[in-house]
Amino acid sequence: MKVHILLGPPGSGKGTQAKRLVEKFKLNHLSTGDILRDAVSKGTEIGLRAKAIMASGKLVDDDTVNGLVFARLRQGFEGDVLFDGYPRTLQQAEALGEFLSTQLIGLGYVLSVAVPDGALEARVVGRRVCSNNDCGAIYHMETKPPKQDGICDLCGSPLKHRSDDTAEAFRSRMAEFNATFQPLLGFYERKPNFRSVDGNLAPEQVFESLVQLFAESA
Ligand SMILES: [Zn+2]
Repeated sequence: MKVHILLGPPGSGKGTQAKRLVEKFKLNHLSTGDILRDAVSKGTEIGLRAKAIMASGKLVDDDTVNGLVFARLRQGFEGDVLFDGYPRTLQQAEALGEFLSTQLIGLGYVLSVAVPDGALEARVVGRRVCSNNDCGAIYHMETKPPKQDGICDLCGSPLKHRSDDTAEAFRSRMAEFNATFQPLLGFYERKPNFRSVDGNLAPEQVFESLVQLFAESA
């Protein structure tokens, strides 16, 4: 068993790529959300601690997240693991590194889906969503415009520009994200098994680049 890590900013399409890689290479997909839900439902000590932290409205701290992940890794897996959304901080990355070396678990690829902030901003700011919640179709002014300006192709309802999708909202989210993400990225960039793929390509091409890297490692 080896542990692979997929990194990327929100909006990079990382989640979709992770799902496809997991399917293609029969990996075990590990997201902290799933591990957390599992630990809570099993009522483990650390699961209950995490539940109490969330119930108080706080973010689950690094040590608790690490504890959950390590407990799950100790149970073992058949085949390799792909982490998606973990590690999220430099502290988590350092702790994971120590855990893996003490458990003699190999670190496989650290794959980064790299998309320039400007390109991410264009993806977000051009997004329009159907105002009919039952429909929820998503469009993009440049890459997937509706046939009729401002009208949903599927149900005819007006399209709207969500307040989360403005440039200002995007930039403030990215600044917050990068404050944590850049140190994490810097930590992994120095590792010999770090690989970056161009996330600005079409999703199919991004997937092909990732597949090539995985095929090399197999
Ligand atoms: Zn619609």
